[in-house]
Order: sequence, then structure tokens, then C-alpha cells
Amino acid sequence: MSKQSELHNTSANWNVETRMVHSGTMRSPFGETSEALYLTQGFVYETSEAAEARFSGDDEGYIYSRYANPTVTMFEQRMCALEGAEAALATTSGMAAVTSAMLCQLQAGDHVVAAHALFGSCRYVIETLLPRFGISYTFVDGKDLGAWKAAMRPETSVLFLESPTNPTLEVVDIAAVAALAKENNARLVVDNVFATPIWQKPLELGADVVVYSATKHIDGQGRCLGGVVLSTQDWIDEYLFDFYRHTGPGISPFNAWVLLKGLETLPLRVGQQSKNAKQIADAIAGQNDITRLIYPGREDHPQADIVKKQMGAGSTMVAFEFEGGKQQAFAFQNALEIIKISNNLGDAKSLITHPATTTHKNLTDENREMLGISEGLVRLSVGLENADDLIDDILMAIETVNR
Ligand SMILES: *Cc1c(COP(=O)(O)O)cnc(C)c1O
Repeated sequence: MSKQSELHNTSANWNVETRMVHSGTMRSPFGETSEALYLTQGFVYETSEAAEARFSGDDEGYIYSRYANPTVTMFEQRMCALEGAEAALATTSGMAAVTSAMLCQLQAGDHVVAAHALFGSCRYVIETLLPRFGISYTFVDGKDLGAWKAAMRPETSVLFLESPTNPTLEVVDIAAVAALAKENNARLVVDNVFATPIWQKPLELGADVVVYSATKHIDGQGRCLGGVVLSTQDWIDEYLFDFYRHTGPGISPFNAWVLLKGLETLPLRVGQQSKNAKQIADAIAGQNDITRLIYPGREDHPQADIVKKQMGAGSTMVAFEFEGGKQQAFAFQNALEIIKISNNLGDAKSLITHPATTTHKNLTDENREMLGISEGLVRLSVGLENADDLIDDILMAIETVNR
């Protein structure tokens, strides 16, 4: 629907903070300051002729909120202004975004190559759902470009990856995988949640499609689920547009409104959370009992060179491992006072997770070991609290564990 591009009011000269406050705003005749929440299912037409024109496409107005809604359009346009994308469609969750982005462009006989370190539900979609429809897959070590190359087949049509990965924060060379996709006439889809749209721009690196769980940093305050798929106008028109309209993964206007307002503070929040994360990683480094510390913004990250090439900063996530395994990791989590135990991430509240017993408990022991998810590993999503308070909390809990 080109209505959306018509309404796109972004100045190319604006910096990201300005764009996140103003881009995509469509004011009603009342001239409201804050974006309006159009909580409506449908739209009415002045005349039968007007309805006919709307349906024939001669008039590009709204028809039904499963297709498009003005509040949702504002969120999509602000996301386009953030990502530098031509077009976007917002979905009810991050998983609706991933599933739609995959299913809309795949058919029986196609083959998918994906990095094996994936968010659990993404893994389900590729490993369990797609094969039911005759779509095969190969999982590869995302760090190993040779493995990506070796997995390519004539019928490979989609490549999929996350970077940094969950929970071990490994980094995949997005530009290299994107180039491989192009050589093979395949398309690369990147789940960019862990990097955030502030620090990594997969489309600029050559990816064809970017997906987000907006549930994470884009809301960032723990309120509602949402997702978004961004790409070129051509890709959206050819693959996603009809799929989205007719299968109904669209986001509710209310959730789109919450996320739209979340975008106003996204650069500030992610900036501060990432600064906090770096300080925390530096404070944890060298603590006794911590056998492994992973933060993409540190020089000792195994792929620090790729991080420098494709990320603006190390993100809001830190992972570390206790020598004493599950028992020590549990005792550490239980001793924390400010940091809450939760499987979520990207929130203003700092959240800690023990992946082996929660988010990644469904993997086989063998897969967990291959992915480096040990019994002692914890994943910290750093929030907006004062960094010194968070460091005190963490060092206090480490000390408790050592007693
Ligand atoms: C949370 C998450 C998802 C799924 O998003 P929901 O909004 O929970 O559906 C997908 N990928 C990654 C990397 C995530 O962190």
C-alpha cells in the first residue's frame, strides 16, 4: 500500500534521536501532540462509490485493521526510519514476524540454511514446522563461513541467522553470509534482536530481510508483545503483503501505539543499557569462579574484529559462566537483590537467566554442549538501573556463592 510511503515524513538529514521522536507521525485534523491510537477494526465510506474505489485500489485509504491501521502505519514508518528500510509490516509478536518472513517466501522443495545457535522458537520453525511442508534445512556453525558454503544447494532459497546469538553472544559475519546468499540467488533473513537496531543494520550489510521481536528493546518496559519485518518495497509486495493480509499476523493498534512511543526513547535506553553492560562486563572480568565472560564490546570477545566491522557497540547483553556449574549459577541468581530472574530481555529492569534449565532446556545435552551452553552459564540482560548499583549487586552475589 503506497499510502504508507506518501505519509513517510522523515528528513534524510535527521539523526536517529530526532527520527525516533518524529518520523512516521500522522496527525489527525485535531492536531494532537502525541500520536493517536486508532482502536478500530474497520473504516466507513461516504458512498458506495468510495467503497468501490477503496477496494479497486484507486483510493489508497484504509479498509480493515487486519490489513493496515493508521497507528500501525505510524509504528511501521518509524521502524523504517530507524532501520533505513523501504517498507515494513508489524506483527503480533517476534515469532509472528519470523514465521511470516519465512513462510511467505518458501515453498515445498525449497531448502533453508540457518546458523544453529537460534532462539528456541526460531529453531522449532525451521527444524519442525518447515519440514512438514516439504521444506528441508541444514544447520551450520554460524561462525564458520566454509560450513555455510558447503551447505548451499541449488534449491537453497533462504538463509537465516541471529547475531549476536542467544545466549552465548557469538557473532556471525553478516556481510560475508549476505554475499554468499547473493551468489546463490538466495535471500538472507536476519533476526536482529540481540544487536538492536541501534547498533547493527543488517540491510546495510547486505541482508534482504530484517526481523525483530519488538517485545524486547523496542518496548523495553515489559508491557506488550510485538514484532516487525523490514525489507525493500519489492520484497514486501512480492512475498509478504498478501500473506500478511490473508493469514492475519498483524499487530493490534494498541500494542503498535505502545511500541511507537517506546521508539521515542529507544536510542537513549539502548545507549545507556549498553554502557552499563560494558561496565558490568569489565567488573566481572577476572573475578574468581568466573571461568568465561562473553561481551561483544570487549577486546577479548572471540570475534572482536567482526564486532568492530558490523556493530556500533557491544549491545545490552552479557554472558558468563561459573566454575561450580548449576549449583553455583543458581546460588548466584538467588542471591541477587536488584537483578530479577527472568527469561525475558531488553527491559529497563536487569534480568538474569540460566539458559540450560529454562530457555534452552529443550535442547539435547549434545546440542547444548555444541552451542557452549554449560550448566554454569548465565545470561544477563542489562537494564537502566545505575551501573554501580548493578555491579555491587553482582559482586555481592558472587561473594555469597564463594562463602
Ligand atoms: C524474543 C525473541 C524472539 C521471539 O519474539 P516474541 O516477541 O517473544 O515472539 C525471536 N528471536 C529472538 C532473538 C528473540 O530474542
